Amino acid sequence: MPIRIAVLRETRSGERRVALVPSVVAKMRRLGVDIAMQSSAGAAVKLPDKAYKDATFVAEMRALVADADIVLAVTAPPVAVAEAMKEGAILISIVYAEKEPELVARLRARKITCFAMERVPRISRAQAMDALTSQATLAGVFVVAARMGAVPGAEAGEMKGRLKPVEASDAAITMRYAGTVIIAPGYGLAAAQTQQKLYELVKLLQAEGVTVKFAIHPVAGRMPGHMDVLLAEAGFPYDLLFELDEINAEFKNADVALVIGANDVVNPAARTNKASPIYGMPILNVDQAHQIYVIKRGQGRGYAGVENELFYADNCNMVYGDAQAVLAKMVQAIKELGEQEAKVPEAA
Ligand code: NAP
Repeated sequence: MPIRIAVLRETRSGERRVALVPSVVAKMRRLGVDIAMQSSAGAAVKLPDKAYKDATFVAEMRALVADADIVLAVTAPPVAVAEAMKEGAILISIVYAEKEPELVARLRARKITCFAMERVPRISRAQAMDALTSQATLAGVFVVAARMGAVPGAEAGEMKGRLKPVEASDAAITMRYAGTVIIAPGYGLAAAQTQQKLYELVKLLQAEGVTVKFAIHPVAGRMPGHMDVLLAEAGFPYDLLFELDEINAEFKNADVALVIGANDVVNPAARTNKASPIYGMPILNVDQAHQIYVIKRGQGRGYAGVENELFYADNCNMVYGDAQAVLAKMVQAIKELGEQEAKVPEAA
């Protein structure tokens, strides 16, 4: 069943905005989402229903929200909306919760997850994003996460190729002599809580003239913006972090892609295997890098429970171990190499 998003027509006096514009609706449709809008939802901002080519229209509010997985509104909807929504659905809207106790009580009673957009913290990099942009992004993140997570225990299928383990020190030395390294972090980095060791590795590589960039997938980790927050808190400069759309074309020119505890968000089956449950999902194109190293502890699957053909590719090597231990070994290997190189002139 495709995910269904319902967009309400605003009812508060003076509120003319609409929660989704046609270009965003088109993007959501490409993710396989059904979008239903309340008739004339965009009329006040000169977006007539016919401007929304990718949406269906429903006049009556109850019929609109009754089977929606996600409901979008600009400002706090009437209590009747919470009553009409299906139990367990998601509401994404400005709510001003402290001024709307009755609405909050109904949402709680109906087990509705509410993202009050006025309370969503913004990292300084995202200050330019207004609440509506953040809201559309959040809705998109849920769609992708739900699609990737919709298949627990899915079967592996036959994998071509074989897993090829290498030592952490060998991978580190390859990176030390690379021109560009793109790092794709995932849930395993958060689980290992090893951002500081990673930062140490990044600084060592940069000191050797390696260009290091981070590829941030919108649903890497377990919550929207997880990797952004994790890396920002660890002090990584923002100019090292790139969104999926910004970085994907660069993998083909990268000497090394270093995958740290990521799995679903780098699974090429999403691009190549129509039979895969995650087919059509946007992924980081790490498989296009010249050489790939994947840090993970063993043969554990990702959140979606599907096997990852990336790990069997000719240009991919596995660096097995907890991310903290592996990164510590990589740092050690690069430091030791530096010490050996420093000694050479003395001996000569
Ligand atoms: P993932 O697919 O869950 O894969 C994480 C990988 O990390 C696992 O394969 C695991 O393999 C490895 N790992 C775990 N602990 C580790 C450690 N201590 N050291 C090294 N590796 C470790 O993660 P992802 O690629 O980030 O994808 C996120 C998934 O979560 C997506 O399916 C997404 O849809 C879903 N999701 C995201 C959100 C969100 O909002 N971001 C919300 C809900 C669900 P081993 O066991 O072999 O180590």
